[in-house]
Amino acid sequence: MSEKNAPSQTPAIKAVSVHKAFGSLHVLKGIDLTVMPGTVTVMLGPSGSGKSTFLRLINQLETLTGGSIEVDGELIGYKHVAKNGREVLQTLNDKEIAAQRAKLGMVFQRFNLFPHMTALENVMEAPVHVLHMKKAEARDIAVRELERVGLSDRLDYYPVQLSGGQQQRVAIARALAMKPEIMLFDEPTSALDPELVGEVLGVMRSLAKAGMTMVCVTHEIGFAREVADQVVFMDGGVIVEQGGPEIIEHPTQERFKDFLQHVL
Ligand code: ADP
Ligand code: MG
Repeated sequence: MSEKNAPSQTPAIKAVSVHKAFGSLHVLKGIDLTVMPGTVTVMLGPSGSGKSTFLRLINQLETLTGGSIEVDGELIGYKHVAKNGREVLQTLNDKEIAAQRAKLGMVFQRFNLFPHMTALENVMEAPVHVLHMKKAEARDIAVRELERVGLSDRLDYYPVQLSGGQQQRVAIARALAMKPEIMLFDEPTSALDPELVGEVLGVMRSLAKAGMTMVCVTHEIGFAREVADQVVFMDGGVIVEQGGPEIIEHPTQERFKDFLQHVL
């Protein structure tokens, strides 16, 4: 089949006119963003611009004030049901929301590993307790995912015995063990000492190469330049500039130019 005749793909994420307010604080003011499967989107923007809020909305850790988000073609938080011969939107129950969230893996700035569990136990935890997987099977998966992030020799280490970079790699393995379709990263290297940033970006780079769909909030411009298919610059709750990685070299908007001058 030629490229031209290929059926159009369903976006991994499609956000339309997304608004979010916390009381009177209007944080997101109409975000439109489409992420295609197998692509990497890097979100840049100053602190307070609404980047984390946007990721948290995708993962249903917050609820929308307006607009809609589809993940893998499915509206999040709602479903269409027939009622009195009409289609109406009904909110999803907790179980349905959990099923939608299972498509997404999220990695935060703070890794939040369970301190009383080893690396292996941390990665096994959700497959056993959320997916009700047998321990032996969960162990196999955890070993494989820890291998993938380069920690085969640290399976039985506790978080305090690991560096920040190693802990963050365990956190990535923990998300991957749930077999997400999409990975969301919220400043995964911001809390790390500079010499530990590279190992985490390396894992993210290899995930991207393996075809994972990723949305990454980061200030690592080099990573954005090298890995991103799409770059989004947010400020004040709106997308100010958006395009391929070349927009980093050739920004058109003043606010984006200023931002780049400060981070580069
Ligand atoms: P970024 O990740 O770009 O730094 P955030 O999404 O964390 O920005 O925050 C955007 C704005 O929303 C900030 O002003 C922040 O204080 C506010 N905010 C975020 N979460 C909440 C919340 N749960 N309640 C009230 N205000 C919030
Ligand atoms: Mg943030």
